[in-house]
Amino acid sequence: MSDCLFCKIIAGDIPSKKIFEDDDLLAFHDISPQAPVHFLVVPKKHIPNVMEAKPEDAELLGKLLHKAQELLAAEGCGEKGGRFVFNCKSDGMQTVPHVHLHVLGGRRLGWPPG
Ligand code: AMP
Ligand code: ZN
Repeated sequence: MSDCLFCKIIAGDIPSKKIFEDDDLLAFHDISPQAPVHFLVVPKKHIPNVMEAKPEDAELLGKLLHKAQELLAAEGCGEKGGRFVFNCKSDGMQTVPHVHLHVLGGRRLGWPPG
């Protein structure tokens, strides 16, 4: 999608600090980290948010979750864990309308969200 920030990052038109890339997924560091470890995992397919994902996206999103597990462990958070977050639409405070999984770790995270 031409006016989507994350599609531009996927296309390489906007730089990012990449952690992982394959044909289906890209993972990169969040530009405004909220924890010592904070990266985003996105599907290369433009899907506006997980609430609008289709049944045919299930395999892709499953692959995304599995890669996120692996990358969080590789960042040293395998034992203590962290948080996986999909913000959705306005009440979810989603600011970039392209599915992205926030993966956070490296400190004790507060709950509930403010
Ligand atoms: P959300 O509010 O859930 O839509 O999250 C969007 C995230 O994208 C925020 O955490 C931003 O800090 C992050 N972000 C925005 N622009 C960039 C960028 N150019 N590179 C990396 N992360 C970004
Ligand atoms: Zn997009």
